[in-house]
Amino acid sequence: MTVGFSLVSTTAQGARAGVLHTRRGDIPTPVFMPVATRASFRHVSMDDARSTGAKIILSNTYHLLDAPGPDVFSSFGDIHRFMGWQGAVLTDSGGYQIFSLPGERSISPRGAQFRLPSGRKHLLTPESSVAMQQAIGSDIMMALDVCVESTSDELRTREAMATTHAWAARSLEAHTRQLRGQALFGIVQGGVHAALREQSAREISALPFDGFAIGGLAVGETRSERETMTALCSALLPQDKPRYLMGVGTPLDLVEAVHRGVDMFDCILPTKMAQQGYAYTFQGVLEAMRPAMQHAQGPLEPGCTCLACQSQPLGYIHHLLRVGNTQGVRWVAIHNIHHTQLLMARLRSAILDDDWASSYVELSEHLPRRLKSPLHG
Ligand SMILES: [Zn+2]
Repeated sequence: MTVGFSLVSTTAQGARAGVLHTRRGDIPTPVFMPVATRASFRHVSMDDARSTGAKIILSNTYHLLDAPGPDVFSSFGDIHRFMGWQGAVLTDSGGYQIFSLPGERSISPRGAQFRLPSGRKHLLTPESSVAMQQAIGSDIMMALDVCVESTSDELRTREAMATTHAWAARSLEAHTRQLRGQALFGIVQGGVHAALREQSAREISALPFDGFAIGGLAVGETRSERETMTALCSALLPQDKPRYLMGVGTPLDLVEAVHRGVDMFDCILPTKMAQQGYAYTFQGVLEAMRPAMQHAQGPLEPGCTCLACQSQPLGYIHHLLRVGNTQGVRWVAIHNIHHTQLLMARLRSAILDDDWASSYVELSEHLPRRLKSPLHG
């Protein structure tokens, strides 16, 4: 079957609990997708990722185009067989990477011309992006879009949005779902210009996509602008389709977006923060490199069931980080990915148990704190 979505419950404030139906099983929402950029995770192994409870991951078409390339996926059958991941996979279209990575690029009505990491020149069109994602065999594909900085003026943002809309229609035409049972999501653009966001949400949601993403955020706007645009788009997107906020964000950002009706997320932050020795906890962000952690004999977070907290004391993880042993980053990354899964489960329970208002206040207060000493004695 292709992707479907069942909305289970909505709070008075608009937060939603649902189930995303994929070819590889049902996934409770809200859901966080850890990022496996090049069909691999940074700092953690496939087994580590599995141990976090993640059921769907994200991989980047831009990087996979370059290596291993579509032929390898075709010979393996799909990305699941290639990387040994039995869960669901969402692939982005390549649009965001083309915008965000350094190097020359040019956008024309036909497509985006750019250089791949290997230096090869490449023209990515809406049709070739869908073809590449079909070769990868992801469960959810994204339509190619044009992403601009949030600070772009209205004219530039409007042009990018118009191209995004034209490409959305072409992506749908290129989508031969009967071959693979893959879903295709459209992307709403429009920067931080309310009228453009509104127009984009209306035009994109009028198209027969399987789900809708809010793109072009977390690229230079303020937190308040991001939250306003998220709420505006969310209100205009259909109730019966999944909503995905791309590339966002910190645990607090996730809570704020769920509060505004978003169902799906991806972000590199759990592993990026681990690289700097920052561990997410429900009491705030624990700075594991601080000298105060060196004698801590308890886990990173008391009560956490992740592989790291089950096997290593914080003091040892602190030591590994201090001496530059990559295992230190691995333990924190496992914990952080696991934490995002737990956070989503906790938000879902709060929605289902009619406890959203108090959970929202509690999490909004605790998650942004910086913890400079261990959470246990
Ligand atoms: Zn843990």
